[in-house]
Order: sequence, then structure tokens, then C-alpha cells
Amino acid sequence: MAEVIDGKSVAADVVRRVKELTAELVAKGTRQPGLAVVIVGEDPASQVYVASKSRTAKECGFHSLQHTLPADTSEQELLAVIGELNADPAINGILVQLPLPRHVDAGKVIQTIAPEKDVDGFHFINVGKLGTGELVTAFVPCTPAGSMLLIERVRGKDLSGLNAVVVGRSNIVGKPMANLLLAANCTVTIAHSRTRDLPALARTADILVAAVGRPEMVKGDWVKPGATVIDVGINRIAAPERGEGKTRLVGDVAYAEAAKTAGAITPVPGGVGPMTIAMLMANTLASAYLAAGLKRPS
Ligand code: NDP
Repeated sequence: MAEVIDGKSVAADVVRRVKELTAELVAKGTRQPGLAVVIVGEDPASQVYVASKSRTAKECGFHSLQHTLPADTSEQELLAVIGELNADPAINGILVQLPLPRHVDAGKVIQTIAPEKDVDGFHFINVGKLGTGELVTAFVPCTPAGSMLLIERVRGKDLSGLNAVVVGRSNIVGKPMANLLLAANCTVTIAHSRTRDLPALARTADILVAAVGRPEMVKGDWVKPGATVIDVGINRIAAPERGEGKTRLVGDVAYAEAAKTAGAITPVPGGVGPMTIAMLMANTLASAYLAAGLKRPS
């Protein structure tokens, strides 16, 4: 059976380290890192994410600010809030919780965030830095950055020569994940909905990352023996066995089958999920170090 990669424990390690490095920064007389989270409207799932991000920021010793704006906030008003946060020296990281209401152009909002405070890593400048391998000052999107850390825990930092297959080509997961694996010297293939014979391609992967959004799509016989399987998917499905109307979370990988063949695998929940918030904290800390003219912590 595969080694189970414990994302909760790795995420807790990251948060602990961020907390220590924050204390070191403050001891040097530098301002504490500041994270601003902006949420528009009252989407319940977004409220939960935002509360959890603010809570973890406080746990790290950050200055944590939350702007909760009404659902009818205009694009101009939102851009003005971003402008203020860009200019505020107490803020190192700005996160705008997605999705935004339809009347707001999310792309425009994200591109208005100062690249050096774009701790989500969605600004074109940060996308370009990652694409060109300039990782000294780049902010990498949190979910693929966290997935990479989990891969490193199993395989080490140098992945030279390993075949990696990333299933999914979104801007927030699939593409940055592929760039990170390339930077670590993998031979990378990106698969998507138009890929031919995905099972055969997946079977070539020493590292298989599933970021699709389709419950348990990756079957056990798609997995190469000994492969590292990273399941980014979070899908809620009906669970009648738990009672009427009950649901449960599953990933994009058929976990029980895949765990028989894989060398290591992330569970859902408890795998990649907890890493996303932890990496947001790590990015905000890095931003504070860079703003203070210090080398970003590794
Ligand atoms: P998107 O919907 O943006 O992208 C999904 C990708 O999967 C697309 O590139 C799509 O291909 C591809 N795809 C869809 N169907 C198939 C198929 N049958 N075969 C092969 N490829 C297919 O999703 P995200 O990248 O935003 O998210 C992916 C998953 O990760 C979701 O379950 C999401 O909930 C989860 N997620 C988890 C996070 C975490 O913190 N753990 C954070 C972010 C996301 P095409 O481009 O051709 O349409």
C-alpha cells in the first residue's frame, strides 16, 4: 500500500515555521507581516475560507485585515480599496476572495493588485516570473506551491529526469504546477479534456497530479507502480450510506484503487487542501522579507 502523504502535518510545519520567522523579523525591529483579505458579497463557502485565512494569519503573528464589502459594491469602489491597500506599508499581501459578483471584472481586479503584494500569484508579472524560472521574487499560486512541497517531502527537491503528468491546465493549478515541476527538472506533460488516451499517458507518470474537478476520475490502473500521486481535486458527492441527504468529499483520484499501486498518495480531505492556506502565509511572510530588503526565507 502507498505511503499516505499527510498534508495536515506538513501544513502545520509550514505555519509553525512562518510563526518563528515572523517573530525573528519583528525582533529585528521590522514591522509584522500584514495580510489583507477582501471579500465581496456573502457566498457562504467564501466566508468560511476567508475566516480560516484570517485565523491562520493571526496564528502566524501577522497583522490581519479583512474588508467585507456588500454584494452590490461597484468595480470602481473595489479597485479603490485595492489601491489603498497597495499604498499601505502595513500590508504585504492582498488576497481578493474569488468568485467575485458578475458585475465585477475579476481579471481587472487581480491585475490592479501590486505584483509585490500579489500573494495569490495570479498577477501577470508573477505568472511571467514563474514561467521564466525567476523564482527569487515570484509569488507562486498557493495550491500548486503546496502540492510541490508535498512532492518534495516524498521525492526530495531535485526531481531530475522524472516523468510528471499534470491533468488539468487551469491558470490557478495546472499550468503553475507544470512550471514548478519543469523548474525541478521533471519531463512534464500537461493533459486536459482533449488529451487522447489519458489512462496510457497517466501510466507513464512518476509524478501524477490530478487537478480536474471530476470525482474519482483517475482510476487505479492509470497509476504507474510506485508513482507519487497528488490529488488536488475537491468534489462533494452524495453519500446515501451516511444517511439521507448526506454528502462526502472525494478527490479526482479513486483513492482506494490508486493507493494499491502508488508509492505515495495524498488523501482527500487532508492532503493538498490544508497546504493552500499554509502557502498563503508563507507567501505573505516572503513578501514582508522582500519589502524589508531581506532574502526571502527558503
Ligand atoms: P478548472 O475547472 O479551472 O480546470 C479543470 C481542468 O481539468 C481543465 O484544464 C480541463 O480541461 C480539465 N478536464 C476537465 N475534464 C477533463 C477530462 N475528462 N479529462 C482530462 N481533463 C479534464 O479547475 P481548477 O484547476 O480550478 O480546479 C481543479 C480541481 O482542484 C477542482 O476539484 C477544485 O475544486 C480543486 N481545487 C482545490 C484546491 C485546494 O485548495 N486543494 C484549490 C483549487 C482548486 P480543459 O482545459 O480542456 O477544459
